Amino acid sequence: MKTTLFAFLVLLLGTASLVSAHEKKIAGPNGGRLLTVIEPHAEFFVTSDRKVQITFVDDQLAPTPPAQQSVIVTAGDRSKPTTLNFTRHGDVLLSDGQLPDGNNFPTVVQIKVTPDAKTTVTRFNLNTITCSECSYSEYACICDH
Ligand SMILES: [Zn+2]
Repeated sequence: MKTTLFAFLVLLLGTASLVSAHEKKIAGPNGGRLLTVIEPHAEFFVTSDRKVQITFVDDQLAPTPPAQQSVIVTAGDRSKPTTLNFTRHGDVLLSDGQLPDGNNFPTVVQIKVTPDAKTTVTRFNLNTITCSECSYSEYACICDH
């Protein structure tokens, strides 16, 4: 009896933590991937011409103009990755170059909030195929899979 109750509690706790993890996954204002390792958070978004757009957002996900942040994105095959540098266009940072051809390649986003700050690193596979469940691109997918 005790064992059953214990198993039930473990199941309950497991479900609860899954639900809260799911609720934390939200897309950025343009439907891009939200990078939450930095404050203010930033949205990583692939534009229609395969550039990367970084938008900083406040706690309500409203876009805020970049301040002193600097971003470097490294993407593509590890043997010859493409490095993207960013310049400010209006209230966003836009990459000078384009992402490499292909899809679902390793991507590293390095952000410094100020010139003296520690670099934060986010790694993920950049898959631009649209998820059939949430209709965001897979790199920004908010589902649990
Ligand atoms: Zn999805």
